[in-house]
Amino acid sequence: MKKNVRNAIIAGNWKMNKTPSETTELINAMKPLVKDADCKVVLCVPFVDLDAALKASAGSNIEIGAQNCHFEKSGAFTGEVSPVMLKEMGIKYVIIGHSERRQYFGETDETVNKRLKNALEEGLKVILCVGETLTQREQGITAELVATQTKIALLGVSKEDAKNVIIAYEPVWAIGTGKTATSDQAEEVCAIIRKVIADIYDDNTAEGMTIQYGGSMNAKNADELLGKVNVDGGLIGGASLKAEDFSVIVKAASK
Ligand code: PEP
Repeated sequence: MKKNVRNAIIAGNWKMNKTPSETTELINAMKPLVKDADCKVVLCVPFVDLDAALKASAGSNIEIGAQNCHFEKSGAFTGEVSPVMLKEMGIKYVIIGHSERRQYFGETDETVNKRLKNALEEGLKVILCVGETLTQREQGITAELVATQTKIALLGVSKEDAKNVIIAYEPVWAIGTGKTATSDQAEEVCAIIRKVIADIYDDNTAEGMTIQYGGSMNAKNADELLGKVNVDGGLIGGASLKAEDFSVIVKAASK
């Protein structure tokens, strides 16, 4: 990979899977398998598993993230969790704008922008998800759509703060479907996103930004996807629930 240019990050998104005791078990199984990784390894787990994940990963090279956070610091927002709370626990990363949040929980580009800014204010690193649906791809609007999502998400974010943003290009049609974007499709859109970042900020910021691909990345296709110049890692759903498969992806990113 391009480790000399950018930080490769392999992040697992466990979605709504694993109880606290299962979390401990899975992280204990992963630790020896990923200990020699030459990339960052992050696991984004359900809120109730964060404590168990922090404990199980202590002293290892696995960092822990959450899968969402609210856009206010505190208040009357039943069922929500603020980045202040995550920060105090020792959480380093948070996913914002995952397509499942956009699809099922009314997340919009505007709320993504608010959540992202609040998370950055607390010093969390944000994995910002963008990506088109199958209809949007067929309509030929992937580039505009992904550019718009990226621009709105980063409205009001300084160049300095943008260093704590990782972008995950996740075509919605490839998430959890077993349909992976080809490595050329992934490369094309990751390059478009990098150009958008250069337009918003500058070339240095764009060159330094980690841009991941996500969407049915697995032990078999990781090598090819991660071999692309603009693909700096992966956001992994299903395959991050299997220690062996996840470690193969981590190894592919460490080459
Ligand atoms: C995801 O949840 O971000 C994801 C990419 O899922 P999967 O790898 O299962 O497609």
